[in-house]
Amino acid sequence: MTLERDNPGFFLTTVESALGWARKYSLFPYPFVTACCGMEFMAVSCSHYDTDRFGAALPRFTPRQADLLFVVGTVNHKLAPVLLRIWEQMAEPKWCVAFGACASSGGFYDNYTTVAGIDKILPVDMYIPGCPPRPETVIDALMHLQRNIQRSRQPIIGEHGGKQAHPELPELLGKPIDTRLQDLA
Ligand code: SF4
Repeated sequence: MTLERDNPGFFLTTVESALGWARKYSLFPYPFVTACCGMEFMAVSCSHYDTDRFGAALPRFTPRQADLLFVVGTVNHKLAPVLLRIWEQMAEPKWCVAFGACASSGGFYDNYTTVAGIDKILPVDMYIPGCPPRPETVIDALMHLQRNIQRSRQPIIGEHGGKQAHPELPELLGKPIDTRLQDLA
């Protein structure tokens, strides 16, 4: 009680620090892989570079069990609603990494089909440059992200809220995904 009176933020800071430490070392990545950067993602995930060391190892192939979205490769407008849906299904608190030039900015695809950076539709926490990025760059970004997680406020209830409308997006974005094809299969 003495400590709390002397420094009102002491207990809150301690809890936040412990939560941040736990969260940064228990990241469950969801790899959303669309293009050639995927090879580099596989390389960095395997034994040679071993992201296991950083507490960010076990890829979850269901968004409901993941809290770190790796968008790896080019995202076109047709695919954007699917990416958005996956982000909305992920557990809070969650983080998003744009892996490579295409995910970060559209890369060299300056055309009408490609989303010019996933930050047009998602809140991106970390950008990884390169075409494709070197594994060392990915690891550096991962460590930066972990430091940011540790230093940031630790909300008990999530605040991201998913969708961020952007005027450049086609009208298609935001409409429900048509699942009729699944019924036909
Ligand atoms: S950044 Fe380069 S390697 Fe990565 S998906 Fe784009 S074109 Fe392929």
